[in-house]
Amino acid sequence: MTKHVLYHELSTMRGDVRAFLDQPKKHFIGGDFVDGASGETFWTEDPGLEIVLADVQSGNQSDVDAAVEAARRAFEGEWTAMVPAARAACMFKLADLIYENLDQLAELEGLDTGKPAHVAKALELPFAAEVFRYYGGWATKVRGSTLDLSLNPEKFHAYTRSEPVGVVAGIIPWNFPLAQAAFKIAPALAVGCTAVLKPAEQTPLTALRLAELVVEAGFPAGTINVVTGYGHTAGAALAAHPGVDKVTFTGSTETGRRIIAAAGASNLKRLTLELGGKSPLIIFADADMERAIPTAAAAIFGNAGQVCNAGSRLYVEASAYDRVVEGVVEIGRNMQLGCALDGSSEIGPLMSKTQLDRVTSMVDAARGEGVSVLCGGGREGEKGHFYAPTVLTGMDTASKIATEEIFGPVLCAMSFDDEEAVLAEANRTNYGLAASIWTENAGRAHRMAAGVKAGAVWINSFGVFDPNLPFGGFKESGWGREFGPEGMAAFIETKAVSMHIGG
Ligand code: ADP
Repeated sequence: MTKHVLYHELSTMRGDVRAFLDQPKKHFIGGDFVDGASGETFWTEDPGLEIVLADVQSGNQSDVDAAVEAARRAFEGEWTAMVPAARAACMFKLADLIYENLDQLAELEGLDTGKPAHVAKALELPFAAEVFRYYGGWATKVRGSTLDLSLNPEKFHAYTRSEPVGVVAGIIPWNFPLAQAAFKIAPALAVGCTAVLKPAEQTPLTALRLAELVVEAGFPAGTINVVTGYGHTAGAALAAHPGVDKVTFTGSTETGRRIIAAAGASNLKRLTLELGGKSPLIIFADADMERAIPTAAAAIFGNAGQVCNAGSRLYVEASAYDRVVEGVVEIGRNMQLGCALDGSSEIGPLMSKTQLDRVTSMVDAARGEGVSVLCGGGREGEKGHFYAPTVLTGMDTASKIATEEIFGPVLCAMSFDDEEAVLAEANRTNYGLAASIWTENAGRAHRMAAGVKAGAVWINSFGVFDPNLPFGGFKESGWGREFGPEGMAAFIETKAVSMHIGG
C-alpha cells in the first residue's frame, strides 16, 4: 500500500467510522458545516498504515473571520443569555454524548493519530468527557465577592463580578486531539465564553465529530466553532485576530512564542500556554522498584513519547542505576508497536514523517557524540512512522539530547549520588512542566517537591491528571494553568464595582 490508498481498504473499520469518513469534511461555523472560503483542502492520514483518511478544509483568514464573528454573535446573544444551569445542561449532555460515542471516537482518534484505539478509549476520551462534566458543574458556581475598602474613609459598597473574557480561540496539538479540545473549550464555556477551536492539521477528525455532538447537545449556534487548517495559517490568523479576546494553546514553545508576539502586536489578548517539557523522573535507591521501573518505562514510551510531560530524563541513584535501567530497557524491548486498530498494540507510530526525521536525527547526533544506545535507536519496520522504544545513556547532562524536548519514545538515563546534586540536575533545563520523584523517605519526597521547578510534581507516581488538579508549566513550559478552578479563572475578567453609599 502506498500513502494514497484510501481508508476504504481498511476492512476492520467500524461502520459508523466509515460513514463519518465518507461525509465531506467542512468547517463548523455558526452552527452550520460550511465549505472553506478558498476551496483548498489537505488530507489527513493514519501515520501507522499511511493511508489517507479524509480531505479537510484548509482554513484561511476569511474562514477565521467568519468563525470569530459567529462566536461573537453567540457571546453577545444566545449563549450569554442562557441561565448558567442551562449552559451546564448543554455541557453535561456533551459529556454524555462522548461516552455514548466512545467506540467510534476512539477508533477515529486512533486512526488519525496512529495510537491504539483501545488506549484512547480507556484513558483520554473518558477524561475528555469528565472535563466537560467537571466544568459543567462549575458553570452554576461562578461568583464574585463583596469587600471592604481598606483606606477610604467614606462608605462604599464594593464588590467584584466574574465576567467571561469573551471569544476564546483554542489552538491544539495532535497528541491528544479530542482531550485537548475539551481542555480548551470546557472551562471557557463554564464561565460563559464562546470558542473557536483550531485542531492540528495532522488530526482534525475528532474535533469535527465533536462539532456534530455539539449540535446534538443543543448548544446555541456559534457557541463552539471549528476551523481546520493546514500549517500555521488558521492558527496565526486566530492569534492575531482583534476579535479574539483570549487564546488558549498547547503546543511547542516555539509556536507559543509566535502566539505571544501576535497577541502583543494585536489586542493584547489573554493567553494560556501549555508548552514543551523535559520532565525529570528521579528514582532514589529506597524506592518501591516494583512500581517505579514499569512507571518509568510507561512515562516515556506511552503515546510513543509524544507527551509534553513525558518523563524523558531518568535520574537513578547510583546504587540502583543498573537494576532500574536494565528493567526499563527490558520493558522497552518487549513493547508491542502496532497500528490503531490492532488490539494488541501498546504504542503506535510517531505522528508524521517530520516527527520521525526529527527524532531520528536527534538520536543519531547523540550517538555521534558517543552516547550509548541500550535499546531501540532507530525506525521500526518499513511502513508507518514507527520508532523503537529507546534508552540512551552516557550523555553529557548539559547536552542537547539531555536538555531539549525530543517528543518521541527516547529516554536519557543518568545516575546521581545525592539529593542536592540531582535537584540541581533536574532544574538544569529551561522547561518546568512536571517532575516525578520516587522515594520511601517522606521528608526527602517533600523537600524534592518543594525544590524542583515544575508545575506538577508526582511522588511515587507519574502522570496524575484530574479535572480538579491544576496543570501547567514553570519557566518556558508555559503560562497559566489548566484544570481546577485555576483553569477556569483564566477565562474570567474580574470587574471591581465601588458604589459610594455615604459617610
Ligand atoms: P508541532 O510543531 O508539533 O506541530 P505546534 O506547536 O507548531 O506543534 O502546533 C500546535 C498547534 O499550533 C497546531 O494546531 C498548529 O497548527 C498551530 N500553529 C502552528 N503555528 C502557529 C502560529 N504561528 N500561530 C498559531 N498557531 C499555530
